[in-house]
Amino acid sequence: MTVDDPRLHSIYDLVVHRNPGEDEFHQAVREVLDSLGPVIARHPEYADARVIERICEPERQIIFRVPWVDDSGRVEINRGFRVEFNSALGPYKGGLRFHPSVYLGIVKFLGFEQVFKNALTGMPIGGGKGGSDFDPKGRSDAEVMRFCQSFMTELYRHIGEYTDVPAGDIGVGGREIGYLFGQYKRITNRYESGVLTGKGIGWGGSAVRKEATGYGTAFFVQEMLRERGESLDGKKVVVSGSGNVAIYAVEKVHELGGTVVACSDSAGYVVDEAGVDVALLKEVKEVERARISEYAERRSGASYFAGGSIWDVPCDVALPCATENELDETAARTLVAQGCTVVAEGANMPTTPAGVATFVDAGVLFAPGKAANAGGVATSALEMQQNASRDSWTHDHAETRLAEIMAGIHARCAEAADDYGRPGDYVLGANVSGFIRVADAMLAMGVV
Ligand code: GLU
Repeated sequence: MTVDDPRLHSIYDLVVHRNPGEDEFHQAVREVLDSLGPVIARHPEYADARVIERICEPERQIIFRVPWVDDSGRVEINRGFRVEFNSALGPYKGGLRFHPSVYLGIVKFLGFEQVFKNALTGMPIGGGKGGSDFDPKGRSDAEVMRFCQSFMTELYRHIGEYTDVPAGDIGVGGREIGYLFGQYKRITNRYESGVLTGKGIGWGGSAVRKEATGYGTAFFVQEMLRERGESLDGKKVVVSGSGNVAIYAVEKVHELGGTVVACSDSAGYVVDEAGVDVALLKEVKEVERARISEYAERRSGASYFAGGSIWDVPCDVALPCATENELDETAARTLVAQGCTVVAEGANMPTTPAGVATFVDAGVLFAPGKAANAGGVATSALEMQQNASRDSWTHDHAETRLAEIMAGIHARCAEAADDYGRPGDYVLGANVSGFIRVADAMLAMGVV
């Protein structure tokens, strides 16, 4: 592994030293540094200007108290975060995650990934991420609203359409973006549409934003298969998760001819050999906010497995769309042994490093999240574009743009992999291509 390069190795050691206990951040940095050895060998100017060290240090990190009152009148205190990682290519851009697991290390890993992902889209967006350890599960709409209002009462001073543009991630969807936007508008007395993306279509949102991450992942798979003269037609697909990314990955895979036979939530998974019924999945997860077990109860022929691993379900294509490190080496071996030949990450960093190595060694086509799930943030950039011009595009136009952007990301990854003598290595291609775009902008702007 190229972190063996002494310069990269010492950068990695420094990151671990300066960010103690932040394992996910270390993992995300290591995964990128592993790809950069050949780049700094060819371009010593990046190392000379210490661009990599600068990229690993966020430009700004904000941590704040979020006090709010629950429905019983009890005062609750959560912690809020926004890590503004890199603004070389545009305003900081990236989602907010509300989940009990959120701490600074998770936000930094996501922000770091976002920098390269956003660069890969070819669009004018920097990278950032935020969130809170607030758990929306089981909370009433009124509680979620009060939490969002308190969160924005601090966050508003740090964001803006030319500064930092948050959006959704796990636990933050259309409902939360609505409450956050409402509070921002109230505090600032500005109808600043471009300050948040993922807004409702009737008030500045973009068609296809909700679907974009999942659709984009399916489009990316289609591009990878096309290179091999294949398509999704007739392929058996397993999609982990049942949130926003998973639901729309399932929908698009079906439209492209594949059959999704399993999906999951944090409690278990369902197997539905006839193909997951997307309408029922949406009803259970989006409307009722219920567990995936509910799906199996209402769908004849579907079975529910409490606990266990969804990766035990045999498939041709696996799309991890739940959360980080959900697919480990054991799961990867099982997938390979049962004939899986394509893996694309709809979530951020869902495959462990040993899992990725297992896929690469087995010759599986593997697309990392920063390429395969970039359709979400790319469509956010399209939303910013529509807001800036006070325009609103049709669903078809937005989806056509998304498909073109995913094809562009695929081409950039493939070209960088070819250029560095590793054809078909999408991990290397994504890291190198994203890094070079950010690094060149940073070089041009001097030591800032
Ligand atoms: N949270 C999404 C991601 O991981 C999207 C962020 C955005 O739209 O800004 O890329």
